[in-house]
Formats: sequence, structure tokens, C-alpha cells
Amino acid sequence: MEDTINKSDDQWKETLSRDQFIVLRQKGTEAPFTGKYYANKGKGIYLCAACGQELFASDAKFDSGTGWPSFFKPISEESVDLKPDNSHFMERTEVLCSRCGSHLGHVFDDGPAPTGQRFCINSISLDFKKED
Ligand code: FE
Repeated sequence: MEDTINKSDDQWKETLSRDQFIVLRQKGTEAPFTGKYYANKGKGIYLCAACGQELFASDAKFDSGTGWPSFFKPISEESVDLKPDNSHFMERTEVLCSRCGSHLGHVFDDGPAPTGQRFCINSISLDFKKED
């Protein structure tokens, strides 16, 4: 596991676009069916758009119909942190990059086998690295 990254908002703004900053650092949500990866069926690895840590593999991706990239598990249990999120009058579980603390999305219990989990992730929080 690589060392964790702690940067100030000003430092993040140097490397992230305005829209990336809003989602990754201010816990925003991209509009559904607008992101670049919800329909991506390529084989490869999804990295954290903020720090490059490997987060999800394409073989755990499924079409949830929600308009956000959806996975039934992270690439490893250590790659993400889960945190209770009671904002917006909902009880949800937030998914964060374990390395840089950036907001990725939320996880729900209505996913497919084998885990029953649905990691609902913003496209803008990810960088897709296509398998060679
Ligand atoms: Fe990260």
C-alpha cells in the first residue's frame, strides 16, 4: 500500500478540473448518463482520477441501468474506504479512495452476485486504463 496523500484544496485545484474538484473533493455527484464510463465495456482497470490508485477492475463492472459506472466489488478491500453518509436526508455509505481520501460515490446492498453490493461511482472520479 502506498502512503496516503494529504493535499490542501488549493493544491488539488492545480491538478483537477473544476468539475473533478467538485465531485472528488466536495462530494458532488455527476448527472446520470453524462459520464464517460457508465457504458464502457472495455477490459482494464479504473484508477482514481485524483491520485492514480487502482480502484476497480472491468471484470467486476455491470450495467446497473443507473447511468453511473457500477461495480460489485473494488479491486481490493484496501483500495477504498467506506464511511456512513447521512447527508441529503438519506442513510448511505460513502466510497472514498483509501490513498487520497477523494470521494468516489456510494455503495448499496442491491447489487448482483457474488457480493450483492453495488458500488455506484462517478465517471469523473475515475481514469480508465485499458488492458493491452
Ligand atoms: Fe485517490
